[in-house]
Amino acid sequence: MADPMETYGEMWQDLGMNLRAHCALLDAIPKMYQSAYLSQENRPEAMSYFDFVVSEIHGLRIKELMEHKEAGGKVVGTFCLYVPEEIIRALGAIDVGLCAGAEWGYNEVEKLLPRNTCALIKSFVGFKLDRVCPYVESADLVIGETTCDGKKKAYEILGEMAPVYIMELPQMKRPEDFTLWRSEIDRLVAQLEELTGRKLTLENLKAATREVNAKREALQRLNNARKAAVVPISGKDALLASQVAFYDDVPRFTEMVNEIADELEARIAAGQGVAPADAPRVLVTGSPMAIPNWKLHDIIEKAGAVVVAEEMCTGSRYFDTLTDETPETLEGMLDAIAQKYLGINCACFTPNEGRMDDVVRMAEEYGAQGVIHYALQFCTPYQMEAHGVEKASRKAGLPVLRIDTDYSMEDIGQLQTRVEAFVEMLGD
Ligand code: SF4
Ligand code: SF4
Repeated sequence: MADPMETYGEMWQDLGMNLRAHCALLDAIPKMYQSAYLSQENRPEAMSYFDFVVSEIHGLRIKELMEHKEAGGKVVGTFCLYVPEEIIRALGAIDVGLCAGAEWGYNEVEKLLPRNTCALIKSFVGFKLDRVCPYVESADLVIGETTCDGKKKAYEILGEMAPVYIMELPQMKRPEDFTLWRSEIDRLVAQLEELTGRKLTLENLKAATREVNAKREALQRLNNARKAAVVPISGKDALLASQVAFYDDVPRFTEMVNEIADELEARIAAGQGVAPADAPRVLVTGSPMAIPNWKLHDIIEKAGAVVVAEEMCTGSRYFDTLTDETPETLEGMLDAIAQKYLGINCACFTPNEGRMDDVVRMAEEYGAQGVIHYALQFCTPYQMEAHGVEKASRKAGLPVLRIDTDYSMEDIGQLQTRVEAFVEMLGD
């Protein structure tokens, strides 16, 4: 295989990246991927596309972004599901997810942020400080949002290093909150029209919405296959598909995920599973797992269970609902987008009963025998909301294991012991 520095070194240098630190990051990912992914037996063959995507995560995809920029296009970075990608795409820009899933540059980060900040925030600030993420370096604009307090304040710091625009997201879902959110969508449109020099129209918004909906439909197909009695794909592989959805070219991703879904449906028909038919089935819910955070899924599946669903932003919250494509006016389409996004059940909202309902409904639909609640340490919204999830799950007869962790490997042994005991109990 060609040396990535030879192929892409000049591009990374042009982006102003810290090449030495970036090489160390690029060295770490294949080892993690080998251990979590390539060691799996009986994987769907079509997952080889994702092996390729991960191997080129800072290479080919960044080259595509650079070509888009050279042709006059813009790249927009986002951190949260609430930022409507339909609008970004409609205006000819490419959106990329910037949430980071690896521990990086913490020594420098902890000079700026309190130590007790969640790993996701520390990670994205660390990536920016150390200049190791080509996605954030290629972004013409970063769109933040007023979700949790940590993110809000971190965006102020990020704003000293990159162009940042903030959307105000209400934290309740009353009619007056919808009105505020709808006006924020209008502000976003104006901001993006200025950035791209293009005008949002009914036609370009409908076309972009169709494309993004098709991506979500492909993910729905893939995830529906996990409901089968003999599960045809590991939770790790399904999680990877959700993670890559935030980076990849939309039509290509949709096509490849549909190919995987074809293979999964054939596997189901042939009774071919990725785990034994009696493997305990687990639903994971909680904070998002940004790439390359595969830690908990890896532990669960190496303990002999199979993860059948993720109620999280790197999971069902991303693809479960579509944006209504039927309105025949631009205003109507923007209303539909505002409605779709305000329907997401993030723990930043109060009350957030919809999330408890989703966990219980999904556990039933996917045949999960137990729920693992995952929260990043110092993530107040999800750590506190674990109480409500646990209460609702137990009421529905589902055992719950609560895991609070970060991106480090220091607690692996302790997590393995707890997960193994839980999986054993589910199997009894
Ligand atoms: S958990 Fe909430 S704040 Fe985080 S990405 Fe999801 S919707 Fe956004
Ligand atoms: S994981 Fe929790 S604390 Fe961290 S950014 Fe997301 S909502 Fe905020």
